[in-house]
Amino acid sequence: MVNARQETLGFQTEVKQLLNLVIHSLYSNKEIFLRELISNSSDAADKLRFETLSDPALYENDSDLKVKISFDEKEKTITISDNGIGMNRDEVIANLGTIAKSGTKEFLTQLTGDQKKDAHLIGQFGVGFYSSFIVADKVTVITRRAGLTAEHGVKWESAGEGDYTIENVEKNSRGTDVILHIRDDQADFLNDWRLRTIISKYSDHINIPIMMRKLPDMNAKEEEKTTEEWEQVNRATALWTLPKNSITDDQYKELYKHIAHDFEDPLLWAHNQVEGGNLDYISLLYIPAHAPFNMWNQEQQHGLKLYVQRVFIMDQVKQFMPLYLRFVRGIVDTNALPLNISREILQDNPIIPKLHSALVKRVLDMLDKLATDDPEKYAKFWTQFGSILKEGPAEDFANRARVAKLLRFSSTHNDLPEQMISLDDYIKRMKPNQKKIYYITAESFNAAKSSPHLEIFRKNNIEVLLLSDRIDEWLVGHLSEYDSKPLQSVAKGDVNLDEIETEADKTAQKEKEEKLKTEFDGVIKHVKTILGDQIKDVRMSQRLTNSPSCLVSDENDMGIQLQRMLKAAGQEVGEVKPIFELNPEHKLVQKLQEEKDDDRFREWTQILFDQAVLAEGGQLKDPAAFVQRVNKLLLEI
Ligand code: ADP
Repeated sequence: MVNARQETLGFQTEVKQLLNLVIHSLYSNKEIFLRELISNSSDAADKLRFETLSDPALYENDSDLKVKISFDEKEKTITISDNGIGMNRDEVIANLGTIAKSGTKEFLTQLTGDQKKDAHLIGQFGVGFYSSFIVADKVTVITRRAGLTAEHGVKWESAGEGDYTIENVEKNSRGTDVILHIRDDQADFLNDWRLRTIISKYSDHINIPIMMRKLPDMNAKEEEKTTEEWEQVNRATALWTLPKNSITDDQYKELYKHIAHDFEDPLLWAHNQVEGGNLDYISLLYIPAHAPFNMWNQEQQHGLKLYVQRVFIMDQVKQFMPLYLRFVRGIVDTNALPLNISREILQDNPIIPKLHSALVKRVLDMLDKLATDDPEKYAKFWTQFGSILKEGPAEDFANRARVAKLLRFSSTHNDLPEQMISLDDYIKRMKPNQKKIYYITAESFNAAKSSPHLEIFRKNNIEVLLLSDRIDEWLVGHLSEYDSKPLQSVAKGDVNLDEIETEADKTAQKEKEEKLKTEFDGVIKHVKTILGDQIKDVRMSQRLTNSPSCLVSDENDMGIQLQRMLKAAGQEVGEVKPIFELNPEHKLVQKLQEEKDDDRFREWTQILFDQAVLAEGGQLKDPAAFVQRVNKLLLEI
């Protein structure tokens, strides 16, 4: 006996917002509802197949997994029916009444109200089951979880507004029926040909049969026309097991949309079938065209699905990809793992590290090839995922050089904010005797581009990489060299441009340094006492041409930018004091040297120091005092 227990429940706020959006922004792409529902049915079949590995009774004598699609012109319904895993009452409430994705709230705040733009965003978010409401004004779901008895069926129903009803019903067959009550103005979907066309367009790659009723033979006798015969309308093979040359680009794309829950085509894919040897596997790896909205969350789903001998085992296998490649989606199918492998024991299986390094190599090969063959497309990839790839050198020691080759930066070569210069490009342009790769890190691209530290480099036409992504400090902290050339911050240590000067230049330089030291000895000492513990040292600068002063870090100290970043992240950073450099060629510094009045000398010194802090993008300890000092001096002019 079924205890109906009918309840009316409200949707989670996010679901309501999403539903509203789905209905209003996807009107130009209505037919995708069928793809989404078939995709869910196929996932449900995969899940069932996996659970039966440990509990074959779940098949309930029906191991012929399939999806049936039918329609009723009179009732105006389309029914998508599967014999997959099904859901129990709690699962229905959790899956169809709430959204569990991380970052959903933030995602919804990004929406603009502009339907075109939002349709694009919502495509990236993935709407799944809720896309039913694009064509239906009421949706009924009748489902029963595999292994439960018939009276544990559940009926869910909603008009896609604020709430839904849920009640227990009897359901003999396991699995899920989704019944769409088609809106009056969408009646053209109630058509055999239309549905078949959509299925072959979107779902040919689905690896269980999708069945539709056989069309009656027009010449058949009247009683034969009504027989219930079904026929398969898709290919129903695991696409990735087919020979590569028999798969069309469209099929690859549709498979991607199914496994990645993405509406857009992927940017690129690589399909490899490795047979023989000690590691048998097939991998089909995709790079999405856009970063998902919750990309920054390292906890977010990892995108690889694991199949063993064509049987789906699990989703989101973390062990296959490092974090810096967490945007990769795809399928790994291997004969090298046992069918009964579980998430827990996956960790300790010796095959996993082998697969991991093989798959990472595949992704790096794919990106490398793209960078060489199609720089424009690579640039698209870089804008989406570049800052994630920059986590690579820190995370993956073994592939450090390969990842470094894929990195792109801004540089003084063209002073453009778009990151398009590779370390190899930089090396090609190095001066004949140049041994180091120079870079500067700053809060923003503009701060980097106009940093006083670059002056001597610009004057000598030496390229400097301009780094301003948050991750960059972290990156250069873990990438000390590339192609045997050390990476050197231009804001650290002495500028030593030995390698690009002639011997004669060097001698002249030495003499000049000595001369400056004696000439400005008094100034240096005086400034040192005035600034006291704000600084580590004072010296005359070799790196400035236009600015009067700047701050640099000692060669082995932590860079100013990194200190700031760590402090912002709430980390304890021991105080590292900067070296204060003055430009002897600058009028203000020369004026300082001539200043006889001690009070004014103090004011000038503090102003030059504060200016250097500001030029670094830093914050003054006492901004009001700075303003007062400047105003006072302005009035004296
Ligand atoms: P997604 O498929 O992206 O997770 P959906 O909104 O399409 O999101 O579905 C939500 C959840 O509902 C699924 O993750 C699944 O657990 C469950 N579900 C949907 N359709 C079915 C089905 N046909 N059989 C079993 N479970 C389903």
